[in-house]
Amino acid sequence: MSADTKFTMTINGKAVTGAEKFGVENPATAEVFAEAPNCTQAELDEAVAAARAALPAWRKTPIEKRKEVMLAIAGVIGQHGEELARLLTQEQGKPFEQAMGDVLGGAHWFAETAKLDIPEVVSQDDEERYTVTRYEPIGVVAAIVPWNFPIILAAFKLAPALLAGNTIVLKPAPTTPLTTLRLVELIRDVVPAGVLNVVSGDDRLGPWLTGHSGIDKISFTGSTQTGRKVMEGASKELKKVTLELGGNDAAIVMPDVNVEAVAQELFWAAFQNTGQICIATKRMYVHKDIYEPLKAALVEYAKTVKVGDGSQQGTQIGPIQNKAQYQRVLDLIQDSKDKGYKFLIGGEASSAPGYFVPVTILDNPPEDARIVQEEQFGPVLPLMSFDNLDEVVTRANDTIYGLGASVWSADLAKAQEIADQLETGTVWINETQHLSPHASFGGAKQSGIGSEGGEHGLLEFCQAKTTNIRRNATFA
Ligand code: NAD
Repeated sequence: MSADTKFTMTINGKAVTGAEKFGVENPATAEVFAEAPNCTQAELDEAVAAARAALPAWRKTPIEKRKEVMLAIAGVIGQHGEELARLLTQEQGKPFEQAMGDVLGGAHWFAETAKLDIPEVVSQDDEERYTVTRYEPIGVVAAIVPWNFPIILAAFKLAPALLAGNTIVLKPAPTTPLTTLRLVELIRDVVPAGVLNVVSGDDRLGPWLTGHSGIDKISFTGSTQTGRKVMEGASKELKKVTLELGGNDAAIVMPDVNVEAVAQELFWAAFQNTGQICIATKRMYVHKDIYEPLKAALVEYAKTVKVGDGSQQGTQIGPIQNKAQYQRVLDLIQDSKDKGYKFLIGGEASSAPGYFVPVTILDNPPEDARIVQEEQFGPVLPLMSFDNLDEVVTRANDTIYGLGASVWSADLAKAQEIADQLETGTVWINETQHLSPHASFGGAKQSGIGSEGGEHGLLEFCQAKTTNIRRNATFA
């Protein structure tokens, strides 16, 4: 099969084939099936220059018009949902229905964000003075996205950035560039030229983009390790940053839950998207009174789940998205084997081509195990029992991460009491991973800086500007 080479970058509203190319693999087969433009420094300069040139007109465009553009984007994504989702399954690996969820979730995010308004705060209004704080666009935004949810995570950035009047250079991850390139191609006619540019490239491109002097703001989603580098690079020109980083979310399961009824939900909290979700449950603490029956229910359910090629009907869990992550997950499994931890299910990599790791559950590994302490970002779950509430809260909080956490209990007041003690940006009670375009989502501790979603997320793309008007000047 020859590689599909039709994908283009969008710079100043035009297709750019790119002077160089790089291969994109299907993780279910480990075969290169397409090529994407490998953006050169000169092409990146063009993209940043186009965004800068488009800025004055776009920031002056009335907000109602900008909202129309956002709704038009949502409409185009919706119309091409199936085409985009098929491509996403091919490059990302996730089952088709879940790819539809990512794509249509992106459309929803544009449409709902268009309902937000930019606030204005009057802090003094009397004979002496009128003081008002308004929010202006920051300028040219670099939007950098990882490979686990390429479309919805891009929408988290693009929608509020456009609403606030910024222009954008978007960069998808090197292993999942295609759906993003195609999406921006599809909306070329509805977004004014230069307002939204997209570039794809290998590992050199991220640092070029964040270090570019034409960029005013970096909105980054990715690992904590890379987030530190982005912040270091941004410090030279004190670029504004929003960092949405890694997590090691704990789930605390209380003894009053109905074990049979909750087991499936807990399973998917950890294994949805092959465990490759920043807010996946990555450590599960189960009260000792229900540890054995819940363990048995999770393992029984795990045996029924179909792991395979996401393009095949019935697949529930796809491959790991790329080779580097596959090797990282296998390394964590090997470490657990070397240390003698007990596996309840899984643990053997499949011999099939592609980056498949079976559903793997570990029985009570120690708290200092790498699989407990590190972000696995794969289908491997440490299941651990607890006895004492104070102790489990301490264990849940004993991490550099603070993205999310969940508490599962029939007693909502008690669950809230536990939730209040968890040091995270989001906490869920009796559910997990629900995000809303109207609510703030961001990380505590080393899971991030700033947030996305709702008014908080919108203001991350704005420069606050306070105007003072003296009213009692004798000379005026
Ligand atoms: P990554 O940090 O390796 O890459 C993320 C993006 O940054 C990619 O587009 C990559 O090309 C780019 N990049 C890499 N090095 C760069 C550099 N030096 N400068 C600028 N850009 C650079 O992350 P990943 O492996 O693609 O994604 C997985 C990680 O993302 C996990 O840690 C996960 O928890 C995190 N994540 C966080 C959120 C959130 O909202 N908090 C959401 C999804 C994923």
